[in-house]
Amino acid sequence: MRREMPPTAGLPLSPRELFGAGGGFSRAALEYLDARHGALACSGTACLVLILSALHRLTRRRTVIVPAYTCPLVALAVAHCGLDLRLCDLAADRLDFDLTALARLCDKDTLAIVPTHLAGRVARVAPVKHIAQGCGAFVVEDAAQSFGARRSGRSVGLEGDAGFFSFAAGKGLSLYEGGLWVAREPALASAIERAQNETLAPDAWRELRRCLELAAYALLYRPVFLPWVYGRPLRRSLKKGDLPEAVGDVFPADIPLHPVGAWRQGVGRRAISRLSGFHRQTKIQAERRLAALDRLPGARVFRDTADEEGVWPFFLVCLPDRQSRDRALNRTWGAGLGVTRLFIHALPDYGYLRGRVPPEVCPNARRLAAHSLTVTNSPWLDDAGFERILALFRQALA
Ligand SMILES: *Cc1c(COP(=O)(O)O)cnc(C)c1O
Repeated sequence: MRREMPPTAGLPLSPRELFGAGGGFSRAALEYLDARHGALACSGTACLVLILSALHRLTRRRTVIVPAYTCPLVALAVAHCGLDLRLCDLAADRLDFDLTALARLCDKDTLAIVPTHLAGRVARVAPVKHIAQGCGAFVVEDAAQSFGARRSGRSVGLEGDAGFFSFAAGKGLSLYEGGLWVAREPALASAIERAQNETLAPDAWRELRRCLELAAYALLYRPVFLPWVYGRPLRRSLKKGDLPEAVGDVFPADIPLHPVGAWRQGVGRRAISRLSGFHRQTKIQAERRLAALDRLPGARVFRDTADEEGVWPFFLVCLPDRQSRDRALNRTWGAGLGVTRLFIHALPDYGYLRGRVPPEVCPNARRLAAHSLTVTNSPWLDDAGFERILALFRQALA
């Protein structure tokens, strides 16, 4: 194979951006969001740990409600803080909470509710805030996949009490690993800062490793090298039938907690100046391709309503049933076209999370896991490549 598409539209780094003054990324990222209070940590997961630790200190409540379909790291972060996880199903045919189920789950032990902006889309936060106010809980927005997404011109992550973003490889703007937390009120920001000062400790070896990984990412995140760094491991996992491993859903339980070094921050600070241009480019491409995906018989693509302006790292497509979805994947997954899946399971269905995740009936989350696949929106996927994907999907749906 000559070329391979990445599964998401990451902002490619230019080698020039590896050189120059360090530091300054938190400030640049906060400015980008037009956010007042926040700071950088080594991952989105670390940010969630800091936020939850700070909240737990303010009240004795211990339950955290998260969507039943989300990143397994969210469950690991809650467990790391010694808090109790509760899962809320998604609404039918939506990516965010079933609000009726959410209202039922809330009680006087609810510490936080975590509405999640999945796949670059914009989740409803206002009704979640309303429910949270009714039971005295905090709202923490998981915007790990949606840095740059807006509702009514305002960035996601700023409507709840706190929020966080991820700069992991594969999430748009990359420091290889990194996260930014934000808080609306200065008092809560100070509390999270205190948790940060007590929790994060410099880790020189891990930082060195991340620097090498970021440099390698800058050099190898291109279609000619992706067969080696992305495609080969993917195809190996698919051959073994280990789907969680294929999409990178398996994480160690221990969560690194350290600051991000000055060099990686400098790289991110230089790259972020190109981000809004990149988002415009991927949005234009998305508008054309969304319409084509929507015309597939029985298919549904998640898109924005009038006041939502999400970002477009990939398209999340729902096919009519598991069989047609699997047929579509058989033709495309591992073929270098940038077709893959988001999280393989609803949280209760990961074997390795058993014991950390409560069993929960979550039919909508399970249906989304069973019916969906993702198509990259990388600018490297040209029209011919995209047409090829459409043709293979049409065969699968025939
Ligand atoms: C990736 C992700 C996280 C965790 O972010 P990291 O930076 O990888 O720790 C949390 N929530 C969601 C929805 C994610 O996709």
